[in-house]
Amino acid sequence: MRIVLLGAPGSGKGTQAQRLTKLYNIPQISTGDLLRAAVSTGTELGKQAKQAMDAGNLVSDEIVLGMIRERLQASDTENGFILDGFPRNLSQADSLDKLLAELGQPLDTGLLIDVDFDILMKRLTGRLSCKQCSTVYNRYFSPPKVDGVCDVCGSTELYHRADDNEETIGNRLEVYEKNTAPLIDYYDKQNKLIRINGVGEMEDISRAMQAELAKL
Ligand code: AMP
Repeated sequence: MRIVLLGAPGSGKGTQAQRLTKLYNIPQISTGDLLRAAVSTGTELGKQAKQAMDAGNLVSDEIVLGMIRERLQASDTENGFILDGFPRNLSQADSLDKLLAELGQPLDTGLLIDVDFDILMKRLTGRLSCKQCSTVYNRYFSPPKVDGVCDVCGSTELYHRADDNEETIGNRLEVYEKNTAPLIDYYDKQNKLIRINGVGEMEDISRAMQAELAKL
């Protein structure tokens, strides 16, 4: 199963992607995670990406495409993959189609998780991630059982991302509207779009997603 997950920042893409990886035994490939890893290990690529990321702007297509090209050729993508946070604009979507054609692995679907703007704001300003195992929490909607401690691995390193402050969030949502939202039409025109309502219980959203994917 080869999936592009679409949705604004805060739509729950990351969480749903983690579920899909277990269900289909395919990796979640997040360009945001790959970029944050490059920033924290201080690679040249990380240094180039950091400024754009801190401001909530997009990193250059060239950097992101290079990372994706390499990642999609790893052996764990044999059964497919879930792309989370890539493509982010029409030019990346076009490059992805070409790359997948080259690899003989066309996309099955663009899966959109649809959420209203107000809810997105609260979800983003409340977001916490575990530094050790990447589990995602929200201090308003889904806090860890014990304050400050990861339910999954017990780590106390729960952090609020540097780009999750209100100003940057506003910018990230604008960047999404302008650059990424046009991808909804792009996949719709290819008859590959699946639209899921992203507001409600996580379990219900997962179930709706699975039901749609089972029809492919
Ligand atoms: P995310 O974790 O997907 O919200 O990504 C965090 C930040 O990484 C974004 O705000 C961008 O600065 C950068 N980024 C992630 N994916 C991409 C992409 N496909 N193209 C350009 N920049 C990206």
